Amino acid sequence: MIRLNLLAGQVKEKIAQIDPMEYLSLYDLLTPEELEVRKAVEAFVQKEVAPKINDYVEAAQFPTEIVNAVKPLKLFHHFLNKPYGHGTSYTKQGVILMEAARADAGFATFIAVQNLLLNYTLEKFGNATQKQKYLTKTRDVEYIGGWGLTERGYGSDASSLTANVKKVQGGYILNGDKRWIGNGNKDVLIVWARNLDTNKVEGFIVETKWPGYHAEVIQGKLALRIVQNCQITFTNIFIPDENKLESVTDFQNGPNQVLMHSRVIVPWIALGVMRGVYEHSLKWTTSRKQFGKYLASFQLQQERLVRILSTFQASFLMVLRLSRLAAEGKATIGMISSVKAWVTDKTREVARLGREMLGGDGIISDNYVIKALTDAEVLYTYEGTYDINSLVAGREITGIGAFK
Ligand SMILES: Cc1cc2nc3c(=O)[nH]c(=O)nc-3n(C[C@H](O)[C@H](O)[C@H](O)COP(=O)(O)OP(=O)(O)OC[C@H]3O[C@@H](n4cnc5c(N)ncnc54)[C@H](O)[C@@H]3O)c2cc1C
Repeated sequence: MIRLNLLAGQVKEKIAQIDPMEYLSLYDLLTPEELEVRKAVEAFVQKEVAPKINDYVEAAQFPTEIVNAVKPLKLFHHFLNKPYGHGTSYTKQGVILMEAARADAGFATFIAVQNLLLNYTLEKFGNATQKQKYLTKTRDVEYIGGWGLTERGYGSDASSLTANVKKVQGGYILNGDKRWIGNGNKDVLIVWARNLDTNKVEGFIVETKWPGYHAEVIQGKLALRIVQNCQITFTNIFIPDENKLESVTDFQNGPNQVLMHSRVIVPWIALGVMRGVYEHSLKWTTSRKQFGKYLASFQLQQERLVRILSTFQASFLMVLRLSRLAAEGKATIGMISSVKAWVTDKTREVARLGREMLGGDGIISDNYVIKALTDAEVLYTYEGTYDINSLVAGREITGIGAFK
């Protein structure tokens, strides 16, 4: 609720705290179901995640206790259509991730990897047996898993990947490596690999307990601290035929379809980060005094707060519009890429402004803004870097490809 009661010309000591979603009546743009889910997730995140997550952030540990608390909520059912889920939409998934990221972008990214990448791939490309065996478990968080596309030698140029499979009797033999794979040391992994017989990229469901699977958590990562990003090597792993995603035909009708879907929703994580920065900065500057006055009473601070607020609102409108267009099947690859690039770039700016406003305390994890500053770097980089997404959009508006 807006508690702004300053009348024009009046100066009061009581300072307003404004919900940036209410300020332009942005909640009115959401459906009753989206509002209800958002509220429920907000209540959970503020009670169970926000007060506890920074212990895990500082230790760079996976928050098992918090993830276990998610299970009874059946939260991940909201990311799937019936019969495996409650029914879903881009916006419903988005508001869940936005609320998660208000507490921690790493926690939101964990949810995104499990749902936008792993579960969406199983839902879109898996057959009934695979869905029954894996999706029902990954949906209920009995299994945790990841999605392996990127390799040490192939990041932006992912379609040139070299992890490979060779057909043998009853299955395939997998060799190669994957890098940066979130949840790569958990239970199950979607592996995108080149079939040496056809030279096409194909998809496989790999269980991490199978012989030949080796995952090392990448050390020294100073962003998205709770996410366990792994360097993985596959050495002669036998994958049974039944674990091949048969409906994948190549890179375009495979990982690229998944990325087209997830890139619509990932900018909602950036919205959550912007909102988190706004809330922490407003709270801080309206409660700390310097030179005998609240920090928020200085013009420089007010300009920063308004810039953060407006950037959040502009980004929200853009991301929501994209989500609605995607739901209607009208979002092009260029539109998706340009929104992802622009919003994640603006998140870096917002995070920097928030960090400045908190002074020395802006580097303490509980004050959020330093996490936002480093996490924004990954939002800007994963799911296609700012450059590549800009060039995808640039190709669409000029008709000229500039990155290959
Ligand atoms: C924390 C984290 C989590 C991740 N999680 C996953 C995951 O779960 N699964 C997964 O498969 N991948 C994951 N990734 C990988 C991510 O998608 C890649 O990091 C990203 O695609 C960029 O690849 P790269 O890091 O190899 O950078 P590079 O491709 O080496 O790019 C380096 C720089 O060069 C620029 N560049 C490259 N090519 C061009 C060009 N043609 N024109 C102009 N500029 C160019 C890039 O924009 C960038 O600035 C994750 C990455 C990170 C950091």
